[in-house]
Amino acid sequence: MAAIAFELPDDVKDVVEGLLAFARSEVVPRHEKHRELLEDGRRRYAEDGRIAPDVQALIREVRMAASEAGYYQMCVPESLGGGGLGMQAYYAGWQALFHALGPQYWLMLYCVSHWAFGPSRLLERVTDRARDEILEPLMKGEKGMCFGLSEPGAGSDASMIRTKAVPDGDGWVIEGRKIWTTNSPTADYCILFAVTDPERAAARKGGISAFLVPTNAPGFEVQRVVKMFGHIGGDEAELRFEGLRVEPWQVVGELHQGFANALYGVSLGRVYNSARAVGYGRWAVEMALDYAQAREAFGHPISEYQGVTFPLASSAMELHAAHLMGLNAAKLLDQGEPAVKELSMTKAYSVEIGVRAVDRAMQTHGAMGFTNELGLHEAWHTLRIINVADGTNEILRRTIIQRMLKGDLDL
Ligand SMILES: Cc1cc2nc3c(=O)[nH]c(=O)nc-3n(C[C@H](O)[C@H](O)[C@H](O)COP(=O)(O)OP(=O)(O)OC[C@H]3O[C@@H](n4cnc5c(N)ncnc54)[C@H](O)[C@@H]3O)c2cc1C
Repeated sequence: MAAIAFELPDDVKDVVEGLLAFARSEVVPRHEKHRELLEDGRRRYAEDGRIAPDVQALIREVRMAASEAGYYQMCVPESLGGGGLGMQAYYAGWQALFHALGPQYWLMLYCVSHWAFGPSRLLERVTDRARDEILEPLMKGEKGMCFGLSEPGAGSDASMIRTKAVPDGDGWVIEGRKIWTTNSPTADYCILFAVTDPERAAARKGGISAFLVPTNAPGFEVQRVVKMFGHIGGDEAELRFEGLRVEPWQVVGELHQGFANALYGVSLGRVYNSARAVGYGRWAVEMALDYAQAREAFGHPISEYQGVTFPLASSAMELHAAHLMGLNAAKLLDQGEPAVKELSMTKAYSVEIGVRAVDRAMQTHGAMGFTNELGLHEAWHTLRIINVADGTNEILRRTIIQRMLKGDLDL
C-alpha cells in the first residue's frame, strides 16, 4: 500500500531500481567476500590510521564499477559528462540504498559520487585547464577528492579561517591548517579555502577564495588522521600547508568569493544526509519490528507490549514526516528554488529523528541491540555525528529563523 500520495518521475524510479540492483550485485558480494578486511578495524586501517591499501583498492573498484554502470556520475551535470539527474534522484537513490542495506555494506557509500569526495556540479566552477586535468579520472572513479574548509579555530563560523594565500608572482603561496577534512588521507585533490584579501575577510565581505590542489603538491601535508566513531583509524584528517604554491588556473569559482562554492556544495551534502537519516531510520525500525514479534518475555511476544511498540510508532510518524520533507526539498531544488529554509529544516529534522529511531530500535533489541553483528551502533554513530557535519543543527535553526525574520513565513 502506498504511504505517499504522489509518485516520483519515471526516470527517477528507474534509476532507484537500477541503483539497488547495482548495489546488490557489486557491493554486497564484495562485502561477503572481504568481510573480515572490511569489518575488522585492525585490518581496515593501516598503522598510521589511514584506510588500509587493500580496502582503498576495494573502494576504488566500487567507484569505478559504479561509474561504468552510470550511477557514480548520475547527478553530475551533462555539461561535465554526467547523467544530469537532479536532486530527486539523488535523494531517492540514497534513501533507497540506506533503507535497503543499512550501514553494514558500507562500500555502498561509493555507488554515487558525494560532492566532497568526487565529481559534482561544483566542478562547473573550475577552470578549463583544471577540468582537462582532473575531470576524467574523477568521473571514472579512479581518483577522489576532499573539501578543506574547517580549521581548528573555524567551524560554524567559517569566516574565521586563518589559512592564507599570499600573492607571489602570478599566483599565491598558501600557509595554514585544516581539520576534519573527510577523505583527505586518501584523496588525490583537495578544494581548500584560504584568505586572499585579509581586509575584506575581516569585514566579512568576501576575501576568501577556493583553490584546487593536488594532494601530492609540495607543501601539502596530511599531518595526522583524526580517529572518530571509536574506530582505530579514520577518514578525517588534519592538514598542514607550508609554502604550497597555487596558480591562477587552480582558483575555483570567483576569486575572493570562495564561500559561494561551499554553499553550492553543502546543499548537496544536506540532501545526502537527510536521505541517510531517513534510510537508516527505516532500516532500524523494520529490524526492531521483526525482533519484537520474534522475542518473547513474560509469556508473550514483546510486540504485544505498548511500552515496546509505541516508541516505534512514534519513529514511524517522524520518519514519514522527514521522508516527505526530503522529497519536497529535493523537488524544490529541481525546480530551481534555492530551498535554503526547507533544506535546513529537512536536514536538521531528519538527522534528529533518524538517530532517535535507531536508538529506539536498539532499546527494542535489549542487549542484542549493542552487538556488532546488528550494526545498529554504526547507524547511531553516523547519524549522531551528522547532527554536526554539513552545518550543525543549531546553525540550521539559525538559518531557518533568519529567513523567517526576513519575512519568509511559508511553511
Ligand atoms: C564527521 C565529520 C566530517 C566533517 N568533514 C568535513 C570536511 O570534509 N571538510 C570540512 O571543511 N569540514 C568538515 N567537518 C567539519 C564541520 O563542518 C564542522 O564540525 C561544523 O561546521 C561545526 O564546526 P565545529 O565543529 O568547529 O563546531 P563549532 O562551530 O565550534 O560549534 C560548537 C557548538 O556551538 C554551536 N554554535 C556555534 N555557533 C552558534 C550560534 N550562532 N548559535 C547557536 N549555536 C552555535 C554549534 O552548533 C555547536 O553545537 C566535518 C565534521 C564532522 C563531524
